[in-house]
Formats: sequence, C-alpha cells, structure tokens
Amino acid sequence: MIFAYLLEFILFLCWGSFLNVVGYRIIRGYSFFGRSYCPHCRTQLAWYDTIPLISFILLKGRCRSCQNIISPLYPAIEFLTALMLTLMLIYIDQKYWFGYFLFISAGIVTIRTDFEKMLISRYVTWGLIPVAFILSYMHLLPLSLMESIRGALFGYLVLWIVAHLFHAIRNIEGMGEGDIDLLAMIGSFTGITGAWTSLLLGSFLGIISCIVQMALSKRAHPKIAFGPWLVLGSFIYIFLQQQIHELIEPFF
Ligand SMILES: [Zn+2]
Repeated sequence: MIFAYLLEFILFLCWGSFLNVVGYRIIRGYSFFGRSYCPHCRTQLAWYDTIPLISFILLKGRCRSCQNIISPLYPAIEFLTALMLTLMLIYIDQKYWFGYFLFISAGIVTIRTDFEKMLISRYVTWGLIPVAFILSYMHLLPLSLMESIRGALFGYLVLWIVAHLFHAIRNIEGMGEGDIDLLAMIGSFTGITGAWTSLLLGSFLGIISCIVQMALSKRAHPKIAFGPWLVLGSFIYIFLQQQIHELIEPFF
C-alpha cells in the first residue's frame, strides 16, 4: 500500500514538473513542448538536471552552467502537486478523481503564474468553467450542473462587487481581473459553498502572508498575489467539504 502511494507520489512529482513548464510558458505564449532550458543563460538542460526535487537539491538551487538561482517555485510546485494528488487518491471517491485531477492541476498552474508574474491565465480559468459544467452534468463531480453554474456565477459576482467597491471607495485596484475569473472557476467545481469557503480561507491565508511579508521586507504595502491563497483555500475545501457542509448545515 505504502509502496503504491510512494510510486504514485513520484509520478505526480513528474506531473508537477510538467505543470511548472505549463505555468512558465502559458504566460509567455511559448509552446508547452520542446526541451527545458535555463531562463538566464538559455542552456538546454540535460535529463539529469530535470529530475523533480532531486535535481534542485543536487544543484543546490543553481543552474549548472551559469550558477544563477533556480526559482524555488520549481520544487515547491512539484511537491505541492504530488502531495495534493496523492491525498486525492487517498481521501476522495474514485469517481471524482478525473474532475479533481483537472481542478488541482489548474490550481497549481495558477499558483505558479500568479506568484511569478501576478498573472492568472484565462486558458486555465475560463477554459475550465465549461469543463466543470460538463463534468458535473456527467456526475463526475459531487455537485449538480445547476450547483456548478450557480457556483461560477456566485464566485464571479462576489469578487466583481468587491473589486468595484474597492475602486469606488479608495480608487485603487484591490483585486485583479484574474482573481475574479479564478473564483468563478473555483465555484464551477465546488459550488457556492466551495466558492465562499475558498474566499474565506484564501483571505485568511492571504492576510497572514501579507503580515509575514511586511515583517520580512519592511515595506508598508507589499504587493501580494491573492490567487495562490484562493487556490489553497479551495484545496482545503475539497478535502474537508463533508465536514464543512455538516458544520454549516444547522444555519441554513
Ligand atoms: Zn543558466
């Protein structure tokens, strides 16, 4: 059993490595295929320098040819992908694996692009909303088509309103377009409860990260990406959804 999970974990590390490439290239408009290279010196990487986690550790986080720092996002994304997908195999009903595999992968790509460039790709958000509708219609997600549609609309509207309020009151862009699209996508996979739970948990995690960054950088207003925290909030939701529904049931 343990051995099987270990093997799957390793396979998912490789998948995470591919999602890194997707995230890196999707916001630059490059093709997803073709050999990996160092973004600093453009040297093509040998296969033994692209082994998930291991290569990063062996190279001590630096490129073999130019010695520039390799973004720690690479091993972090690989590890998070493997952890989330292995937990999915353990805790989530088999009939929902395909749907959540897509959802988790999309979330991981978003974490990568938003942390790196404060960008969230519409291929990932808008592209997956109709997929969630189809999956829920086919009973491959634990919600009905109507719940999926309502979740997407709710997710979009709630952040759209927040963004416009922010703009009206303080005349600043508090919320990016990408965050609005992202919560709509999260809502399409998790329904209204999923969308607002993700928003609540995401805001909480975002505020903590903001405080930590302020303490570390001593800047009064660090620019923080909100998307990754929304995604992490939604990951917590999909694993604890039963408990969350039981918790809020008496109030509705
Ligand atoms: Zn290099």
